[in-house]
Amino acid sequence: MAETSDGVMSDIQPPLAMLAELTHRCPLQCPYCSNPIALSRRTDELTTDEWIDVIRQAAALGVLQVHLSGGEPTARKDLAEIIAGARSSGLYTNLITAGVLLTRERLAALVIAGLDHVQLSIQDSDPVNADRIGNYRSGHARKMLVADWVREAGLPLTINAVVHRQNLDRLKEIITLASSLDAHRLEIAHVQYHGWALKNRAALMPTHDQVQAATATVEAAQDRYRGKMAIDYVVPDYYARRPKRCMDGWGSQFFAVSPRGHVLPCHAAESIDGMTFSSVREHPLDWIWRYDDAFNRFRGIDWMSEPCRSCPHRYRDLGGCRCQAFALTGDAAATDPTCEFSPHHEALVALAADDAGSGAPRYRYRRYEQTAVSERSMVSGVR
Ligand code: SF4
Ligand code: SF4
Repeated sequence: MAETSDGVMSDIQPPLAMLAELTHRCPLQCPYCSNPIALSRRTDELTTDEWIDVIRQAAALGVLQVHLSGGEPTARKDLAEIIAGARSSGLYTNLITAGVLLTRERLAALVIAGLDHVQLSIQDSDPVNADRIGNYRSGHARKMLVADWVREAGLPLTINAVVHRQNLDRLKEIITLASSLDAHRLEIAHVQYHGWALKNRAALMPTHDQVQAATATVEAAQDRYRGKMAIDYVVPDYYARRPKRCMDGWGSQFFAVSPRGHVLPCHAAESIDGMTFSSVREHPLDWIWRYDDAFNRFRGIDWMSEPCRSCPHRYRDLGGCRCQAFALTGDAAATDPTCEFSPHHEALVALAADDAGSGAPRYRYRRYEQTAVSERSMVSGVR
């Protein structure tokens, strides 16, 4: 990385998207939630003015889209003000929501404030199992109403469905449901095993047969719904032979801001013990993006050790996911064990088979009272 005379790192490109995790509060308690185990309290959250300022800084840095997420972003009473701030900064706004706190009137107010798009999560097509997964009674029924209101308001709707062993056998029904809700896009994502999902891995890990059947179902549906509903598919890491190009590169196009203002190269980055992240309360966003140690630690390929360092695939996948490498090996700089060239890969395959073959243990729901448990104590890896 070259430094120019004005002190700017010349080959760092501006980010395109920002994930604003407005709060960790959420009425649901999904066992695969990607939020950290140590959930932030309401009293620690950035204020309305602080969020609007961060969004303004993001726009000045080059960001085009802000994804408003959490936790549940509608738990913040000032959401319309924050959306209006993003609109006045010229950003495209996407609300990522579980939906259960919305009313038709509140949604209309968000649209007036400038909301452009809604991503609504569903837990299953079966209402009973959906409510069990989110541990929230009648949540599924509420989401069906919210989907109607979004389309009524004229906004594009994306349905997000996280899939795992306990809903994967209904994937066809989930796809049919998304189509019946007039979604323009469906994102089907296998659970990523960080944070709460790592705690619940034995309850959530699909079998190899389920994964194969799911992939065939998605491919057939992508053909069937072509031109009507786009279907994106995030494949399960533990059954892969090569890792994903995670976040399109650490510190490359994206950053997340946590409820208390920490700026992260990936929403799961706080799961890596020993890394510290700067706060927008301490530094300007532009400085953090360019100079923060946490952002530069895994930028590009210079940080790699073998087998990645001399691998011909290193520019394509950038060594995979750093959070996953840490979760499974205790070393965030290790080759992602989903790679068949990783010395940990065979152990990972065995671990997935063990988890998938276990009787489904009870969910350990996402709750505030377990915040004292560090993620390191949950690392259940392949070392
Ligand atoms: S995954 Fe579930 S618990 Fe986590 S923020 Fe989303 S709706 Fe809430
Ligand atoms: S060794 Fe590293 S660079 Fe090569 S395919 Fe595996 S993860 Fe990618």
